[in-house]
Amino acid sequence: MDIQTLQISDYEKVVKAYDEASGLRAIIAVHNTNLGPAVGGTRLYPYATEGEALNDVLRLSKGMTYKSSLAGIDFGGGKSVIIADRKDKTPELLHAFGRFVDTLNGQYICAEDVNTSVADMEIIRETTPHVAGSADKGGDPSPLTALGVYTSIEKIASKLLDTPMRELTVAVQGVGHVGKYLVEHLTKGGAKVYIGDIRENKVKELAEATGAIPVEPENIMSQECDIFSPCAMGAVLNDDTIPALNCKAVVGAANNQLEKDKHADMLHERGILYAPDYLVNAGGIINVFVESQPGGYDPVLADTKVRQIGDTLLEIFRVAKEQDILPVYAANVVAEHRFMKHGEAA
Ligand code: NAD
Repeated sequence: MDIQTLQISDYEKVVKAYDEASGLRAIIAVHNTNLGPAVGGTRLYPYATEGEALNDVLRLSKGMTYKSSLAGIDFGGGKSVIIADRKDKTPELLHAFGRFVDTLNGQYICAEDVNTSVADMEIIRETTPHVAGSADKGGDPSPLTALGVYTSIEKIASKLLDTPMRELTVAVQGVGHVGKYLVEHLTKGGAKVYIGDIRENKVKELAEATGAIPVEPENIMSQECDIFSPCAMGAVLNDDTIPALNCKAVVGAANNQLEKDKHADMLHERGILYAPDYLVNAGGIINVFVESQPGGYDPVLADTKVRQIGDTLLEIFRVAKEQDILPVYAANVVAEHRFMKHGEAA
């Protein structure tokens, strides 16, 4: 295997590999390990160019440093990309990737991501122990991700909107793994919940089970409510959708909800609070962290740590107000403070 180191400022290590026998072409980026080993998923995608793959892995690995720091867990930030089509994902390719990960001696720990599964991680584990998460420990992270979103909604509603859960209305876009559990929490808490999903059967089933109110998927974003909760896909907050929102706050699980940074400003101009997605949806990475503890997986610890997301969120809003900046920028300040302070102490 041919492995080359790329010099990228502000990143601890960026390496790329080419393995002729298996066809592996991959890049691992370790952004920062002040808090602990760099943990982040392995994204398999048919990037058009190596430059595109590099941009993605740099952006994503840095994002993981901020996400784990803000979540209060001792993980650094890293990510990896495999340049390949799903149909070219073979055990040989995954084994070669595992050997590549192994050359970093635990500085980077991989996990499932777009186009890689828990089953793929088990194959990678055959050639390296540096693989996070496993089906027989913390399992599906979605319930804890949903709990993190729920606790965030609860805090924003009670502390910033002065509305108790039983008087709250929430519109949830997407009732997949995370959205379903979130709707269960919200309805149990007494909130009035609207749900929209392109999968009609999922909406029908969940409405019957919880009393949530079905809305056509194209109308869920403009539904009048206190809180809009995007739990489907990214970039849903953009030039076209923000003017149509009919809510006081956006608090959801979807990754990269803002199409561009300027959309945080657009929300602010409309008087809509925006809870940074990478904090709200950190339940999954917290679950992985708890799994990695020496004593083994402790569900009570996972639950406690995920519930702290709501308090961190309030702290972010406090800092934002104090510094007269938007919460998305305040989140960066708080995250940087934690991982940089650790760097100085080390
Ligand atoms: P999922 O695929 O199980 O559910 C997504 C749901 O959204 C599906 O039911 C799908 O039909 C629906 N959907 C897609 N397009 C839609 C549209 N235009 N309008 C309405 N509904 C639409 O995914 P998930 O695991 O529930 O994750 C949801 C989001 O949260 C994703 O953005 C994911 O990246 C993010 N996230 C998930 C986790 C986790 O633990 N699963 C952790 C962090 C972030």
